[in-house]
Amino acid sequence: MSKVLVIGAGGVSSVCVHKMAMNAGIFSEIHLASRTRAKCDAIAASVKERTGQTVQTYEIDAEEVPALTRLIQQIEPRLVVNLALPYQDLPIMDACLAAGVDYLDTANYEPKDQAKFEYSWQWDYHDRFKDAGLMALLGSGFDPGVTSVFAMWLKKHKLKTIRQLDILDCNGGDHGQAFATNFNPEINIREVTAAARHWENGQFVETPALSKKVEFEFEAVGAKNMYMMYHEELESLARFIPELERARFWMTFGDAYINHLTVLKNVGMIGIEPVMYQGREIVPLQFLASVLPKPETLGATTKGKTNIGDIATGEALDGGGEKTFYIYNICDHEEAYAETGNQAISYTTGVPAMIGAAMMLTGAWQGDGVFNMEQMDPDPFMDMLNEQGLPWQVKELAGPVDF
Ligand code: NDP
Repeated sequence: MSKVLVIGAGGVSSVCVHKMAMNAGIFSEIHLASRTRAKCDAIAASVKERTGQTVQTYEIDAEEVPALTRLIQQIEPRLVVNLALPYQDLPIMDACLAAGVDYLDTANYEPKDQAKFEYSWQWDYHDRFKDAGLMALLGSGFDPGVTSVFAMWLKKHKLKTIRQLDILDCNGGDHGQAFATNFNPEINIREVTAAARHWENGQFVETPALSKKVEFEFEAVGAKNMYMMYHEELESLARFIPELERARFWMTFGDAYINHLTVLKNVGMIGIEPVMYQGREIVPLQFLASVLPKPETLGATTKGKTNIGDIATGEALDGGGEKTFYIYNICDHEEAYAETGNQAISYTTGVPAMIGAAMMLTGAWQGDGVFNMEQMDPDPFMDMLNEQGLPWQVKELAGPVDF
């Protein structure tokens, strides 16, 4: 029985809080704080209607560390679950240290003024969390999150070593809009337009954004173009699976999405440097985000499925030489929406955030310091994925990927 404070009230938070309320034996008291309290109240109302559970709500700017520290001290949760934006990771970690409470997030820290995301800033907190006897769990979403747990499950049960790893993220959903992002537009566009990087022979190799495209046949979705990108779990996977010769991340985008993005980039609308407009500074990407459809409004119209997973090749544990396994989850947008009122992208992130929190609160995952998902036993997490709406499957492929 544990009290938890969730920060942020977007789509991911909505799913996570609903799923926490559905697991009241673990999450005995749920508190929800965000910049806009009305959004917390809307989630609390939906949770009440769907589960009968009460969620207490607060307004907080998570970048105001003293105010956030006071709020944490007032609520006295056992765990703070950060589902705001990556910009708030460090202030929330600071407040957790000041208040003496464990921490969890789903995306690594990103400074507002640089389109750069890496774990170094948060790994630097390891000694402070360790010395305080506290635990911080980083990246407990789907990717990062489940994709790393999938890799570690394969390494525990199927492969002695992983030589090659490809993470394939396919969203086969159609929301019926000309252009929209399925999670926070600012974060999404910064991520997609960043240079691609993959791990090869002990170092990251950089290639221009969206320059490598492959068609892949996804189960339950069909053939889709996927593009090689940089994604943060490549950094932690390369660190915790040291024998990795190559690791890549792929995400599917339709031609219409790529065309819109190309035009927006060419006309300067995705810039993150402020420009003067009618006597005041605006950031083009922030203005663009303000006029795009809000991701949380897409749920009602989105149809189709997501298929996200890992293909790993390495020396088999059973002594049968080199083998290749594909491990993945398929999630249906309409089923996700029916359960919590949010589409599958929020669902596939919010459910693992809840499971990561459950791992910490039940003691299944413990430690003092800052941890990535790869450092924890994958089995109890994988069991909960099956029980909590994200069932996975694993199959052996004929050989390594040929792209
Ligand atoms: P949204 O933009 O829908 O929600 C973000 C929430 O954070 C909003 O409620 C926002 O408040 C709140 N917020 C922003 N700034 C502050 C602040 N200074 N203080 C308090 N609250 C603040 O995002 P999503 O729900 O789509 O994503 C949430 C997180 O999940 C992001 O970090 C994202 O990168 C991550 N993510 C991870 C994935 C994974 O698989 N690992 C996949 C998808 C997302 P307001 O409403 O006032 O703007």
